[in-house]
Amino acid sequence: MVIGAAARVAIGGCRKLVSSHTSLLLVSSQCRQMSMDAQSVSEKLRSSGLLRTQGLIGGKWLDSYDNKTIKVNNPATGEIIADVACMGTKETNDAIASSYEAFTSWSRLTAGERSKVLRRWYDLLIAHKEELGQLITLEQGKPLKEAIGEVAYGASFIEYYAEEAKRVYGDIIPPNLSDRRLLVLKQPVGVVGAITPWNFPLAMITRKVGPALASGCTVVVKPSELTPLTALAAAELALQAGVPPGALNVVMGNAPEIGDALLTSPQVRKITFTGSTAVGKKLMAAAAPTVKKVSLELGGNAPSIVFDDADLDVAVKGTLAAKFRNSGQTCVCANRVLVQDGIYDKFAEAFSEAVQKLEVGDGFRDGTTQGPLINDAAVQKVETFVQDAVSKGAKIIIGGKRHSLGMTFYEPTVIRDVSDNMIMSKEEIFGPVAPLIRFKTEEDAIRIANDTIAGLAAYIFTNSVQRSWRVFEALEYGLVGVNEGLISTEVAPFGGVKQSGLGREGSKYGMDEYLEIKYVCLGDMNRH
Ligand code: NAP
Repeated sequence: MVIGAAARVAIGGCRKLVSSHTSLLLVSSQCRQMSMDAQSVSEKLRSSGLLRTQGLIGGKWLDSYDNKTIKVNNPATGEIIADVACMGTKETNDAIASSYEAFTSWSRLTAGERSKVLRRWYDLLIAHKEELGQLITLEQGKPLKEAIGEVAYGASFIEYYAEEAKRVYGDIIPPNLSDRRLLVLKQPVGVVGAITPWNFPLAMITRKVGPALASGCTVVVKPSELTPLTALAAAELALQAGVPPGALNVVMGNAPEIGDALLTSPQVRKITFTGSTAVGKKLMAAAAPTVKKVSLELGGNAPSIVFDDADLDVAVKGTLAAKFRNSGQTCVCANRVLVQDGIYDKFAEAFSEAVQKLEVGDGFRDGTTQGPLINDAAVQKVETFVQDAVSKGAKIIIGGKRHSLGMTFYEPTVIRDVSDNMIMSKEEIFGPVAPLIRFKTEEDAIRIANDTIAGLAAYIFTNSVQRSWRVFEALEYGLVGVNEGLISTEVAPFGGVKQSGLGREGSKYGMDEYLEIKYVCLGDMNRH
């Protein structure tokens, strides 16, 4: 039994505490009241075969070559949940080789055959949604209800692309010469490297793997070292569904080594990444020597714009949802709340009252709406941003400090009188802090909203149809919610402009990211 937070030390490239054995280390919570303790959750997961600690390479569950492991802990309690294999260059090369081999047979299946496998995977994800949700709460911290919601959302990409697999149409082009016939085929790109973050341990993977497998690609997934358990459980269900050996591999551990192996291999034809803008830029540069296709889902700095003519309740509810989901740790979280002069004070009061009602606690406790932040570095970042804003004249309405629960819990916070010289106006807060910025005119709102290098999500609250059209057309963002704070769905394209990324995920557009276009010209067609 191991109790206590894992020390963050660098050994062999794995950032967390590393040990030489791979056994599962289970502890029960002694620090905090939980409605369902970690022990019973872990037992259930183990008995369903979903608590995996090895990497998946070529259809086999494997330790790392040097037996190094990495500890995964529960951010709400610091308890160590499991020791998982800490992999690097060698294991990634093995995974690439197995994916490359599997590509030949997987890509030659009919779309209908691949579709059936994906459909079975979807059914299994849904059948295990409680356990998967518990796993997400255990390693990521979000409230169980939200975690189960992520499972449904994550699984929806597998269902959607099971259906979409059958709709990859080519084209017949009217020829330029009478003895020619011209056609276009859409074919799978090849082996895909998929690197994903910790904030949505399942959905960020299925959003990539769904369209990749559906189109006939094979994949090497690298989940975050902070949340590998959900990825491994999903992969176990993929195997049960009939995804063949090598078509889906999972390696985790030394991120730079795994990244380098994926990026330098000429066999990997595409890199798809969700994570920070800084890492995304590095990966994009490193993909250049082998001219890989690249899709990037990076950071945001979303404005939520509340106009004088907004319905106050709708604006409060929508901004609350956009800001505080996952304790503010999503790329589409409202990062700046822009409020027009005439409604500013009323909105500040009503919004703060709503934020006051949020329940901070362990994700397993009934009623919790705000879990912990992922780690102490995340809390320190939030603290720095808040101190900076206050030192430059912003005023805290509620919150503004670590929560009395300790660990990485932070009080849901509303700050008013925030201006554009403060760090939180410019950078992603990634925590439960809502800065209120005052504006006078529609033109001001658009200018402030667009004054950022990011361009992922934006939200508008107004009762004027004309205004909403003017503003959403002018916003330099990939996604816009009008009178709505939760807009992500598998049927619509998700992605950013400017430095928030390249490409789209979800919807019919998400499939294109995994397809190459081949033009075929048939000549000498008039010969009998
Ligand atoms: P991150 O630090 O960039 O990490 C993302 C992934 O990249 C993790 O798997 C990480 O591995 C890996 N990684 C880190 N350095 C690497 C390297 N040198 N080579 C290869 N891989 C490397 O981001 P995060 O903190 O996990 O996630 C939060 C960020 O993701 C935020 O900026 C958020 O806005 C963004 N995000 C964007 C979207 C979107 O759709 N646009 C969605 C969700 C999140 P380890 O964790 O193992 O180190």
